[in-house]
Amino acid sequence: MTNTLHLDPRQRAMLAEMGVRVWSPLSEAAVVEAPAEERKSLPVAIQRTEGIDQMGWSELQTTVSTCQACALCSSRTHTVFGVGAPAREGQAPQVDWLIVGEAPGESEDLQGEPFVGQAGKLLDNMLNAMKLTRSGEPTPEGGGVFIANVLKCRPPGNRNPKPEEVAQCLPYLERQVALLKPKMILAMGRVAVQALLQQSVPEVDSTPLGKLRGRVYQYQNLPVVVTYHPAYVLRNLPEKAKVWADLCLAMAHLKNP
Ligand code: URA
Repeated sequence: MTNTLHLDPRQRAMLAEMGVRVWSPLSEAAVVEAPAEERKSLPVAIQRTEGIDQMGWSELQTTVSTCQACALCSSRTHTVFGVGAPAREGQAPQVDWLIVGEAPGESEDLQGEPFVGQAGKLLDNMLNAMKLTRSGEPTPEGGGVFIANVLKCRPPGNRNPKPEEVAQCLPYLERQVALLKPKMILAMGRVAVQALLQQSVPEVDSTPLGKLRGRVYQYQNLPVVVTYHPAYVLRNLPEKAKVWADLCLAMAHLKNP
């Protein structure tokens, strides 16, 4: 018996609309369903959803919210899909900017929203300085914003994401980028930079972030600017000026590609 379901995008959209999830199980083991607190200590059946690259915005959001593609699903409180400009009748929001961070921390896991802790406050200040807001609504001076992470679930104890977690989660960010088609992607911190530039910059893993700054890269034919993660800046306040320089580069490129 095959465990692969072949559904076209219209069938998938209909199933998603009805709240039906489509999985391609990698394991025959039963999915453990238990209260959140109990689930944290129980093994889960790791399952990968098919057809992420065909999904629309709403289906993608639903799929992320029920994802069991890696073990982080057993310890999370909430998935963190992203925040920003409102979706347009189930379609991706219209944005100029996509800000990409690493992974939810404790506050983000509890609230289901990215960058709500201390690093988030700094990000909000950065956005304000650029005449942008976290709610993502375009203002007269700036276009809409969406904020997302490479990982949609919190690594326990805020440890660094494991390569296999990034590999399992990256298709969600890839699809978010494809649907949002932002005019500028700001990659904040090493995890985001490596995830977005691994195809186009072969030496990205071995190059210090400071050496990758100051250039405009491409991801899915969209411009990417590299900068430090706000949490790093909070620990190294003199680096703030460099982040501002990176934001100026991104704003200048957006105005004059
Ligand atoms: N750090 C991140 O990279 N993302 C968040 O959402 C919060 C902290």
